[in-house]
Amino acid sequence: MGRDLRSAQYLEALGLESWVLRRPAAPLAWAPSAPLPPPPPLPGRVPGSAADWRALADEVAACVRCRLHERRTQTVFGVGDPGAELLVIGEAPGADEDRQGEPFVGRSGQLLNSMLLAAGWPRARVYIANIIKCRPPDNRDPLPEEVRCCMPYLHRQIDLLGPRLMLAVGRVAAQTLLATDTPIGKLRGAVHHFGTRGTPLIVTYHPAYLLRSPREKRRAWDDLRFVRRELACRRAAAPGGSA
Ligand code: SF4
Repeated sequence: MGRDLRSAQYLEALGLESWVLRRPAAPLAWAPSAPLPPPPPLPGRVPGSAADWRALADEVAACVRCRLHERRTQTVFGVGDPGAELLVIGEAPGADEDRQGEPFVGRSGQLLNSMLLAAGWPRARVYIANIIKCRPPDNRDPLPEEVRCCMPYLHRQIDLLGPRLMLAVGRVAAQTLLATDTPIGKLRGAVHHFGTRGTPLIVTYHPAYLLRSPREKRRAWDDLRFVRRELACRRAAAPGGSA
């Protein structure tokens, strides 16, 4: 499949096909790209071993730190490439995730996959996790106590992964990670920093929101272009790195 056709199909999946038709011949900075080549090793990073990841996943699977364990089908630990440079973080499992044990499945997951692929990342090339590992009943927002209990697991995932950049998906993830109640619209478009390592963090809308508000897909696409540019800059700036 040619690159232009593939790009058009990805954008169509995002509901952005009309952009292609309006600007068919321009060198489009926002045009999706072929999947990126494997990232170079991150300088100074000591990735977690498979045993480290397994031990943490087992600990989460047995966790009863908060009452969310009472109604879960299973914990939803996270999925993806343990060497990924991009960590995507959502809020908490929904019904589909609780059933399948994997974050961002169902319609939201399909849209997220399309968005990532349009930006050059097949799902398997990033790491995806949630702040909360068990499904809150009726998909309510996580309670502060649940966040307090569960966040240490995410911190340990971040330590094992050592991502070059984090993408917070949705209001709850963004506000929790940045410890703010600033509306998501005002958090977008900037590079924030997370944790003691100061890992760069960018904010975008949740795909479930985009399914309800398709006009916002254009802004989400801007966010992914921003992520792509930032990653390229940080790759180039790393010792021995290249864009
Ligand atoms: S939500 Fe997190 S802290 Fe609560 S039981 Fe599940 S894994 Fe443990």
